Amino acid sequence: MSFVESEERRELRKVVSELGKKYGYEWFNRQARSGGHTTELWLEAGKLGFLGVNLPEQYGGGGGGMGDLSIVLEELGAAGCPLLMLVVSPSICGTVISRFGTDEQKQTWLPGLADGTTIMAFAITEPDAGSNSHQITTTARRTDDGWSLTGRKVFISGLDVAKAVLVVGRTEALSADGGKTGKLKPALFIVPTDAPGVEFQQIEMDLISPDKQYALFLDDVHLPREALVGSEDAALMQLFAGLNPERIMASAFAIGIARHALAKATAYVKERQVWNAPIGAHQGLAHPLAQIKIELELARLMLQKAAALYDAGDDMGAGEAANMAKYAAGEVAVRATDQAVQSLGGNGMTVEYGVASLVAAARATRIAPVSREMILNFVAQHSLGLPKSY
Ligand SMILES: Cc1cc2nc3c(=O)[nH]c(=O)nc-3n(C[C@H](O)[C@H](O)[C@H](O)COP(=O)(O)OP(=O)(O)OC[C@H]3O[C@@H](n4cnc5c(N)ncnc54)[C@H](O)[C@@H]3O)c2cc1C
Repeated sequence: MSFVESEERRELRKVVSELGKKYGYEWFNRQARSGGHTTELWLEAGKLGFLGVNLPEQYGGGGGGMGDLSIVLEELGAAGCPLLMLVVSPSICGTVISRFGTDEQKQTWLPGLADGTTIMAFAITEPDAGSNSHQITTTARRTDDGWSLTGRKVFISGLDVAKAVLVVGRTEALSADGGKTGKLKPALFIVPTDAPGVEFQQIEMDLISPDKQYALFLDDVHLPREALVGSEDAALMQLFAGLNPERIMASAFAIGIARHALAKATAYVKERQVWNAPIGAHQGLAHPLAQIKIELELARLMLQKAAALYDAGDDMGAGEAANMAKYAAGEVAVRATDQAVQSLGGNGMTVEYGVASLVAAARATRIAPVSREMILNFVAQHSLGLPKSY
């Protein structure tokens, strides 16, 4: 077991960080506040090979793993540019298609996901099912030449910039003789965002972010047979394979924000003097920042463990570590942004210093893509073997 990052990964951190700093939080925040997008940075990162670093080389990717892609998101976030669609497009969608897609699906989608010219959103959350994804009702019925998909999703990120969305729906299970059983089981479909019957409406969020969330309506959307990703019978396993990368990347997103907030707070308290000494000399400010530094390093270690397990092919082991990393990263992001505001006093609430605007983004990492409570449920049941209350 090595705790030393490889030379290649250290180099990746360095070059991604340089790109992130070239744009920086001021630019990112300006895009967010003006309703703009981060396309310029996204495409440059794609051209440099950063977005597809985890995807197979034969489809234009870098041939690396989630450990590499999480470095890309963490470093961009630490530089003030947390690109939310990195959690979704190359990680969940890219992973599911590269692991379970047909050759044709790989050819069609992976090169664009890798170079950033194609963005794919991911839709699992439904208004009535919420955290209980076993209750989703979006349903795909077989037609003569494919599928008809109907349902409703909420809080789907990035539909405005996405060419397609990977939708988690259900199909009717067939019996051994091919008859209908009436039982529904999960299935994954690639749905073009401009397909007839697809509509989406922006949800006004109290978040300052260039990435928007949408309600998605699927009304009898006709899809060809090839829209189904992977096997109908193994969809749950395929879905979980995509959710581990999602949690690993959500951790990297949160850790990036936490690092950015901590760096801003630390720089400020070293300079600011109100009692003839830098305010960072007071333990009332120094200790919370030191605690955050410790919690950040711990969360990052768990993220690296989760990514290492996932990249080694241990989906089950990665599941526990990815949930724990996501929990720890969300908690430290919330504490780091709150303490950054506190450390800057009045300046913490100004647009100029740009720390208060990080609070809601950090707060969202406790809720999405899986809430703090659902992670605690997972650990209680799977790691401790406790019974379920629901
Ligand atoms: C910024 C943002 C981006 C998002 N992007 C996407 C996206 O791209 N695609 C997508 O599919 N979804 C997305 N989501 C949705 C997100 O995954 C859900 O909001 C999240 O899973 C929680 O579901 P919910 O909002 O329905 O909350 P609910 O399920 O209604 O839960 C509300 C509260 O109750 C708690 N709770 C529920 N059940 C239990 C239980 N059994 N035990 C203890 N506590 C419980 C929850 O933890 C939560 O605190 C996004 C959300 C946000 C905020």
